[in-house]
Amino acid sequence: MAAFNRVESKKRIEDAVYNEIVPAGEGWMYDLEPGQTLRIVDLEGNQAADTLFFDADNPEDHYSAVRTIAGQGNIYLTTGSILRAESGNALVEIVADTCGRHDTLGGSCSAQSNTVRYSHDKLHMHNCRDTYMLQLAKRDGGYSKRDLAPNVNFFMNVPVTPDGGLEFADGVSGPGCYVEMTAKRRTTVLISNCPQLNNPCNAYNPTPIQLLIWND
Ligand SMILES: [Zn+2]
Repeated sequence: MAAFNRVESKKRIEDAVYNEIVPAGEGWMYDLEPGQTLRIVDLEGNQAADTLFFDADNPEDHYSAVRTIAGQGNIYLTTGSILRAESGNALVEIVADTCGRHDTLGGSCSAQSNTVRYSHDKLHMHNCRDTYMLQLAKRDGGYSKRDLAPNVNFFMNVPVTPDGGLEFADGVSGPGCYVEMTAKRRTTVLISNCPQLNNPCNAYNPTPIQLLIWND
């Protein structure tokens, strides 16, 4: 396993221009201006913040896991990672990270994946895909299901085994861990604070996140 790269931020909470708590099972959508910095705080630890990014001026150009992974030559995200769109354009850069590693491969939960991974009686449970769609429906931008690309799972631990398998493992994050990213262009951020109750990634206990934004 690669060494964890934990970098603290020098930003002060009292200087933030935005400060919001998002409970588990809720979504959030926001347009960052270039140079603005978003911090996502894992308030109680072991939470998963399923996150997508769009070029706010060209929403069809959404976050691309492949572009991001190929660009940095690593499957995990941490300080210094540049999250890229399908076009290759930089959307945000991670500038601080006290967790040290974030997943690019696990995707988000959905009603369908819940039935496949767990059991058919999980079909009705809250899931990230429905949360995304509820947020997108509030926008006039013409977003639809096809805009939902494979997402980033901040704070989630999905280690890759030596033979290339994926494991959904106990979390690597802890209470108060955060990740901070600066927008490289106007970027729409879409978060589903995962309500998943069937997965050890969040210790079977989904918890709130805090979102803070600074102008510079
Ligand atoms: Zn989820």
